Amino acid sequence: MEIIEKITVMQETSEKWRRDGVLIVLVPTMGFLHEGHVELLRVGRQKGDRLIMSLFVNPAQFGPQEDYQTYPSDTEGDLEKARSVGVDAVFMPTAQEMYPDRSQTTVNVEEITQYLCGESRPGHFAGVTTVVAKLFNITKPHLAIFGEKDYQQLVVIKQMVRDLDMDIDVVGVPTVREQDGLAMSSRNNYLSAEERVSALSLKKGLDLASALVATGEKNAGKIKNSVRELILNHPFTEIDYITICDPEKLTDIERVDGPCLLALAVRVGKARLIDNIILREH
Ligand code: AMP
Repeated sequence: MEIIEKITVMQETSEKWRRDGVLIVLVPTMGFLHEGHVELLRVGRQKGDRLIMSLFVNPAQFGPQEDYQTYPSDTEGDLEKARSVGVDAVFMPTAQEMYPDRSQTTVNVEEITQYLCGESRPGHFAGVTTVVAKLFNITKPHLAIFGEKDYQQLVVIKQMVRDLDMDIDVVGVPTVREQDGLAMSSRNNYLSAEERVSALSLKKGLDLASALVATGEKNAGKIKNSVRELILNHPFTEIDYITICDPEKLTDIERVDGPCLLALAVRVGKARLIDNIILREH
């Protein structure tokens, strides 16, 4: 497995692979890998001939009050996991390599970044799309893989790829969960034992909403209220948002008549956790 820190070296490596006619897959990560990341890598391994994992905690997607400085890291463990899945190259640049002093350009997807996480994290998605566009230009993939856990991120990246005519297939992978239902996340590391119990309320809320829809409830407001009540009955929780919206446009909907996205963000102690589910009528 190659470990590459320089942009030019990564570009030359990918260029050579392209000349050889092989299919290149990219899995972008911020490290501290868990089974969710590993699943993305497995899917990538299956779908392509050369698998690149990027490992970069992107300062541009963190707000000034957010956890950039304390984001968990375990580079040795990450490299070991990448090796065990058969990653061909890990691209792990420094922040200075990615953002030299002279950089002035950002990529911004306008409308769908305003809703959900965009409301409480201004600038976050511009940070994400800018770094992902850069990673695409550096690693030159034919296909890139993202998790459905960050559903809005996936929709935003698909929109960027369409709008800017990037010749890349974007593939989503279903959320990988702990046995008790908690969506895996590097930020679960911030939870104390008691907060960990409260964090289960996110998945319980999603399950409650599914059950309500299964029994014929269509009123999005009522469903959201039930989910809110369930979550707030757990200590240490503070709701950022609970939204039922169109799964592509991300605009709010009032009645669950076709497939809808239920997405939520909840603070549990220091951790801001997100989760989502597609609600379908039965
Ligand atoms: P991160 O390192 O948090 O930026 O995540 C890197 C990639 O892994 C993103 O595409 C995430 O959506 C994806 N991911 C994170 N957690 C999960 C999970 N529990 N299941 C599936 N994919 C995930």
